[in-house]
Parts: sequence; structure tokens; C-alpha cells
Amino acid sequence: MNATTNVDRTPLGRIRRHSGSPLTLLATINLALVLGAMAVVLLQEPSAQAQQLGPTAQRTARIVKLTFDDGPVRGNTSRILNVLANRGVKATFFVVGKQARRHPRLVTREYKEGHSVQNHTYTHPDLTTLSNAGIRRELRATNRAIKAAGVPRPYRFRPPYGATNTRVKRVGASLGLTQTLWSVDPRDWADPSPSVICRRVVSNVSPGSIVLLHDGSGANTDEALPCIIKRLKAKGYRFGKL
Ligand code: ZN
Repeated sequence: MNATTNVDRTPLGRIRRHSGSPLTLLATINLALVLGAMAVVLLQEPSAQAQQLGPTAQRTARIVKLTFDDGPVRGNTSRILNVLANRGVKATFFVVGKQARRHPRLVTREYKEGHSVQNHTYTHPDLTTLSNAGIRRELRATNRAIKAAGVPRPYRFRPPYGATNTRVKRVGASLGLTQTLWSVDPRDWADPSPSVICRRVVSNVSPGSIVLLHDGSGANTDEALPCIIKRLKAKGYRFGKL
């Protein structure tokens, strides 16, 4: 079979052969316009669909992200990991580099049990008071401590106390770290009772919420956690990580 036969057997080949007739020429132009319009529709459809589904999916997904800051520490971090493992919940740990150096095995465990391990600076300073070089030192030293525990390089950082400005955010971004704050803060570090922590979280969560909790401080956080997970699950929430 030769190439010419092939071309003649295709619809396009037939169009080409009969293109001398004005009527067929018109039909060809019409077909081209229709095909062109279809291509435009097909090209536009995914993004138009994503735009329509995006907010709807977020509204209906009911996903909440639990985050734990300031660890790892002996005792508390393990207890929190046990609660999460028993209930099949994944979370995000914003670790302090100095603590990660002290307890590398806990950092490894966080990662191995399916959690996200991210950067919460090395010495927990107010980053807005540091020079750019100082901010970089804090973030880089923490990245190194996390990597030394066998965990992939972080891609997010959380400024201590949520203290930030455009400079802090930009320096973080220059190291490939996206600044990540939170939307629900039960102030667990001030040691309210487990039931108070639970109520503050559950009553303030909405789909997509990022909840600020602490494994490195907060004496009652581990005890509040089963209540938080149980009540959010009862409200139809699933748990995601950052
Ligand atoms: Zn902190």
C-alpha cells in the first residue's frame, strides 16, 4: 500500500480531491470552523471545569489540617503520634531545628508514619527582628536538621508566633519555603483543659481550616486530640496534611 492510497482513503484526502467545487469548498470551510470551535471548547473545558469545581469541591470536601508546632520533645510528641496512628489521622509537624537535632528519631518517626515534617526555624525567634542573613540561617539550619533525620527537605515554613512581614515571607520563598500560617488557634500552649481545647477547635473549624496545635508545648493537647478527631469525624471531616 502506497502513501497516495492512504491519503485518498482518509476524509481529509477526499476533501482535498474535491476542493475544486465551490459548494464543497464552503462545506470544507464550515467543517474547519466547526472543528476549530470544538478545539477551542475542548481546550477551555478543563480550566472552566476546574474553576467551577474548585470552590464547590472545597466546600463539600470538608478537609481539616491539624498542625503541631515546637517539637519534637520527649513524651508529648510520642503520645500525639500514638493518638494519630491509632485513629489513622495524618497531620503536619512544624519542627524546631534545635529540637530535631536533640530528637532525630522522633522526626524520623513523624515522617515514617505518614506525616508532613516542615520548618519552624532553629531557635524559635521572632523572624521580623532578624536580618535577611539571620532568617536564612534559622531556616537553613532547620532544613539540615530535618534532612539529617532522613526526612525530605521541607517546602513550608511557619514563622514563630506568626510574626512575619513581606521580607520574612520573601526570604523564606527564596529558600523554596512557602510561608504557612493557620486559621484556627485554640491557644493550647496556655494549657486550658482538654475539653476547652476540643471545643475551641471543633466550634471554629470550617472546610479547609488549618488548626494550630503544639506537641512541643501545651500540656493538655495530647488529651484533647481524641475528642477533636472524634467530633470532627462525626461532622464529616477528613484530615489532610500540608
Ligand atoms: Zn512555635
